[in-house]
Amino acid sequence: LEAIAAHQPRAVGYVLNLARSAALESEGDRPAALRDFTDVARGLERAGTPVVLGTSYDVTGEILPPFPLSTLPHGLAVLHRDGSGYSGDKVSRRALLKLDHRPSFPMVLAAKAGLRPLKSAVRGSFEVPEVQGRYFSFRYHGDPATAYPRIQAQSLLQGGLDPQQLGSLLRDKVVLIGTSLHDEPSDFVVTPYSQQPWASPRLAVHASVLDSLVSDDGLLRTGGRMRAVLTFSATAAVGSLVLGLSPLMGVVSTLGLGFALLLASLLLFQNPAGIWVETAHPLLGMLAAYYLAVPYRLLQEHQQRSQLQRRNEVLMQVEELKTNFLSLVTHDLKTPVARIQGLAEVLLSKASQRLVSRDIESLHHIIHSTDELNRFITSILELARIESAELRPRLESKDLNLLVERAVDAFKAQARARSCRIETELEPLFPIRLDPSLIQKVIHNLIDNAIKYSPSGSVVRISTRETGGNVEFAITDQGVGLTPDEQHQLFQKFFRAKNNATTEVGGSGLGLYLCRYFIEAHQGSIEVVSTPGHGSTFRFVLPLEQVPGLRREAKPSENPRHVQSARS
Ligand code: ADP
Repeated sequence: LEAIAAHQPRAVGYVLNLARSAALESEGDRPAALRDFTDVARGLERAGTPVVLGTSYDVTGEILPPFPLSTLPHGLAVLHRDGSGYSGDKVSRRALLKLDHRPSFPMVLAAKAGLRPLKSAVRGSFEVPEVQGRYFSFRYHGDPATAYPRIQAQSLLQGGLDPQQLGSLLRDKVVLIGTSLHDEPSDFVVTPYSQQPWASPRLAVHASVLDSLVSDDGLLRTGGRMRAVLTFSATAAVGSLVLGLSPLMGVVSTLGLGFALLLASLLLFQNPAGIWVETAHPLLGMLAAYYLAVPYRLLQEHQQRSQLQRRNEVLMQVEELKTNFLSLVTHDLKTPVARIQGLAEVLLSKASQRLVSRDIESLHHIIHSTDELNRFITSILELARIESAELRPRLESKDLNLLVERAVDAFKAQARARSCRIETELEPLFPIRLDPSLIQKVIHNLIDNAIKYSPSGSVVRISTRETGGNVEFAITDQGVGLTPDEQHQLFQKFFRAKNNATTEVGGSGLGLYLCRYFIEAHQGSIEVVSTPGHGSTFRFVLPLEQVPGLRREAKPSENPRHVQSARS
């Protein structure tokens, strides 16, 4: 004590292990030694360096120092190992402040050293009524094993240390004296920095407690109410996220929320806030919410899916009924319509001299209307054939140009009636394998549309050529054109664009649907390029050589894309 006091420390804390000093008992000069020690300690206190004794504790209570040491200032110097919180990892995080209303060793030492008043409140301190004690969760200021300098008592007594260095180490400091013996496990404790048995000296942890007490930076622990609020909010948030978002986003946001909670609690835990938020309950709540919400959502989706499936089945049945009905009706219509048309034509040719011009015009109307009706009936029957997958192209070797020339001839009268000019630019082509009747229908429909949806006096250009393994047919008109949206839906069943030209001209909206189907049945593709108000170009390509086994016989896809390629 005298050797230390020579360097004027602020105070000295002497942590006794009285249970271990039993050897002293047998020594004859023990009372004299204790008296000497007490006298020296008193003298030091008078000289401005108070000496405080740290006592230990056993089942009978505090082990008081023997007389006359007990007359010196003393306090209980126990270190708690965590056996309940933090999964009972035996780490020291909690320090005693008072027991039975008597201040503990660090409280007495800090007060005697003039570092904090004995009666002032300690941040984050809490009562443990079962033991009538008051504690606080102290904070380590770095690894206790290295944070505080250590001096060996032996070297101090032998005078082997540099007095100047010693002076700078001890002056105005609180010096703790105690044992740190490597064969004594009770001289070491487990800290958050190391769980190794001989890594953190008990004395250094006492220093950490004192340090935290003086800095008044104990941890503030959030209460049960806060924990309940946090748990409820986290659980509710995860539940609504999992139910409201897509499955992937549900997983991502749940994980994100969990990490955010952990990160926030870590940031709050650190200085300067020093708030201890309990995350176990909210995290468990989130997990439970996730595992309850997922099956619930699956059940809901399953119900929706089966409802949709049922509706789809009903719709398919209705669609089938509709097609069957249409094909039945149109089939039965075919003969009477043909008879009306035939009779009208006979009447026109035989009795035209005897009829007034109005009647002749009416007969022309009848023939024209029956023509339209016939085309409609043919389209519907064609559709029914496709839907029942009866249609199979009958391939034969044919020059596409021949079919084009024949079609142009057939449309001459119609073009003349609308003052349209049809120009052709046909490159010589190799004959290819195709079904002439199907391709003829495609060409007819495209030319018919080009004339129908163009103003009178416009030009329709038709060209054919060979391009990289394909034969290409293109028809360009100067008609009304189509918007990108209309181009998108053009090849769908019964689609008709909503413009003046379409309203004025009759049609079923089936022609292009059938065209696409027939072209794809030949492993070809059809597309449209159009500018509204300026005209359109329809182009189809057929492969020079049919690849065996690739022929399409299924229904055409309902895909609204205007470029379809069976080969792709
Ligand atoms: P329909 O001509 O019987 O209505 P289509 O399937 O042949 O049936 O054509 C579908 C729709 O596409 C037409 O109603 C028309 O609005 C539009 N259309 C087709 N060809 C052209 C074209 N050359 N120019 C402008 N619009 C066209």
